[in-house]
Amino acid sequence: MQVYISGKFFDKENAKVSVFDHGFLFGDGVFEGMRSYNGKVFRLREHMIRLWNSAKAIMIEIPITLEAMESAVNETLKINDIKDGYIRLIVTRGIGTLGLDAHLCKEPQIIIIADHLALYPKEHYDKGLEIVTAATVRTNPSMVSPQIKSLNYLNNILAKIEGHQAGCVEVLMLNTKGEVAECSGDNIFIISKGKLHTPPPEAGILEGITRQTVLEIAVDMKIPVKEAPMTRHDIFVADECFLTGSAAELIPVVKLDGRPIGDGKPGAMTKKLLDRFHEETKK
Ligand code: PMP
Repeated sequence: MQVYISGKFFDKENAKVSVFDHGFLFGDGVFEGMRSYNGKVFRLREHMIRLWNSAKAIMIEIPITLEAMESAVNETLKINDIKDGYIRLIVTRGIGTLGLDAHLCKEPQIIIIADHLALYPKEHYDKGLEIVTAATVRTNPSMVSPQIKSLNYLNNILAKIEGHQAGCVEVLMLNTKGEVAECSGDNIFIISKGKLHTPPPEAGILEGITRQTVLEIAVDMKIPVKEAPMTRHDIFVADECFLTGSAAELIPVVKLDGRPIGDGKPGAMTKKLLDRFHEETKK
């Protein structure tokens, strides 16, 4: 495996960053997780825009142009001969002192890792996931905006640990108002009476690229869409539920906190949206 670090490729064994990089010391940096299908990165431009917005929000100046970053991503895929894969792109604050001062870090580092895909097991798509609600509340946007895809994922990791302890691979996170926000690494949707419903950005979520794609597909399929606050109750009484993420695509959820959703099986509309999503990835 060849890993891109700030303009050069390194073997996996030699792909290293400094322990003085604030990305390592403080989780001070931003990242993207992307998918490639048949050698083409899905919604590459959208990922770049989100990356640039994340970096801007935390005042990291990405040292190359957006177009050069796209080329670097494509080159990393090519050099590793990956057609259907997962790409992790990281921009760190760079090397600094042991203090918090970001302005002492002069050179943000860019790291691109492309690997073959590790999807959720097929069984999870066939049977659907059972999830629970975490006691760990999603970061309030007034503290750090969840719209920033930062290297600081402890909030989500703590929730995911709770899910794991309950025997679940994903976990629902609420916001400080007690409304549904998202899952630890995926956005959430429900279908009720033929209408698609997902929490709005104001609920304090990462605005997923897959989420956006599903919203567009739904409009195209003439499925009514509602981006509005959601409660656990809405999920309990929904007909269908699914999660979205670059790695997961669309994955059905069949149980929340012990309550079966709908008939407790992956829903027909979820399946239709997933089929349509797969068409989108072939474009
Ligand atoms: N929410 C969170 C917290 C995430 O980390 C991710 C990405 N793993 C998502 C949602 C889904 O975003 P995307 O569809 O862009 O992968």
